[in-house]
Amino acid sequence: SSILRINNVSKIYNETITALSEVNLDIPEGEFVSFVGPSGCGKSTIFKIIAGLSEPTSGKIEMVSPSQQEKTIDRNEVGFVFQHATLLPWKSVLDNVALPLELKGVPKKERQERGKEVLGMVGLEGYEKALPRQLSGGMQMRVSIARSLIAKPKLLLMDEPFGALDEMTRQNLHYELLKIWKRTGMTVLFITHNVFESVFLSTKIAVMSARPGRITNVFDVPPYERDD
Ligand code: ADP
Ligand code: ADP
Repeated sequence: SSILRINNVSKIYNETITALSEVNLDIPEGEFVSFVGPSGCGKSTIFKIIAGLSEPTSGKIEMVSPSQQEKTIDRNEVGFVFQHATLLPWKSVLDNVALPLELKGVPKKERQERGKEVLGMVGLEGYEKALPRQLSGGMQMRVSIARSLIAKPKLLLMDEPFGALDEMTRQNLHYELLKIWKRTGMTVLFITHNVFESVFLSTKIAVMSARPGRITNVFDVPPYERDD
């Protein structure tokens, strides 16, 4: 069953720039969907609309709770990872990861326990007390992924998360991300303009074109390494 339905979504900025034109896509629960396309084709705009950070000019996004059909997912069940790790430099790794729970008023002991758990999921046990600047770019991205997992999202939006990393680091993170995806059963939406990356990671690829932004093709990636 679908977790997300993008229904005829258009977005026009400043009454002039058609960033998205009548985009439709059904996303089945548990899939790993990549959005691929040139700069300016509206990838980030779709994510902002899905995240509720931006309103579509027309059309709508429906989120279906996997357990209760027809019930809208609350935004707390959506996680985000951006290209830049956006960590708070004065806070420890553990406090950065636990921040979403701190903002929700979860008691310290509980959020730290959960923080340690998600740091373990990204291979960063032992780094709780480190400051972000003491970590490499790849490790900072792991922290950012851990933070996105802390509230157990059903849907994870990743906007070119590995675009700024070197090739080796990126490949390690690919394997790490696939492990997390399998372990959690989350639905992942992933923006990249790296076709190899999309083929390696995804079960489905949505190809977009610009001016106006449209989904021109959607195809399933045959199973292979990711299913090992
Ligand atoms: P992508 O992520 O694929 O590079 P974007 O969604 O960022 O594409 O942008 C799609 C189009 O909308 C581009 O032409 C971009 O310049 C424009 N755009 C994006 N955000 C805004 C904004 N806040 N105001 C005006 N135009 C925008
Ligand atoms: P990204 O696509 O990774 O978000 P951009 O450099 O395209 O990065 O955009 C940075 C910010 O500026 C985004 O918040 C985007 O919405 C906004 N933006 C992009 N293009 C325009 C534009 N033409 N006019 C106004 N804001 C824009």
